[in-house]
Amino acid sequence: MERSRDIAGKLSRQGYRLTPQRVMILDAIENSDNHISAEEIYSQVVATYPKINISTVYRTLELLKQLGLIYEIDLGEGRIGYHPESRGHHHHLICRNCGAVIDVGESVLFPIQAILLQAFEFRADLRHLAIFGLCKNCQK
Ligand SMILES: [Zn+2]
Ligand SMILES: [Zn+2]
Repeated sequence: MERSRDIAGKLSRQGYRLTPQRVMILDAIENSDNHISAEEIYSQVVATYPKINISTVYRTLELLKQLGLIYEIDLGEGRIGYHPESRGHHHHLICRNCGAVIDVGESVLFPIQAILLQAFEFRADLRHLAIFGLCKNCQK
């Protein structure tokens, strides 16, 4: 819960009201071990707060994303997941066959950033990428 106070603190410092819905949405994101989807957040929050509707969840996620407090990732097949900024920068290798997700540190893509900078003078924001392919098992 410490970390959710963190996001909550940042939100209120920027002048956003901490409504009960927002706090519950923050807690759902902070407490999930993996990338949580808007639908999963909704079903958790609605269990204790039946008045919420899913568009509130979408709007809150959009706000948190704009403020840089959460990261969004496209996990393929229309699945969008979120996790808190406090989890640090990383990327994911996603197997398109079995769906396995392998986490890799952001430094793995530093060479690509360097190449893009050198060849195109382009400073790429490689913050939270899903790279699709086949895992070791599925290549057999
Ligand atoms: Zn991630
Ligand atoms: Zn696989």
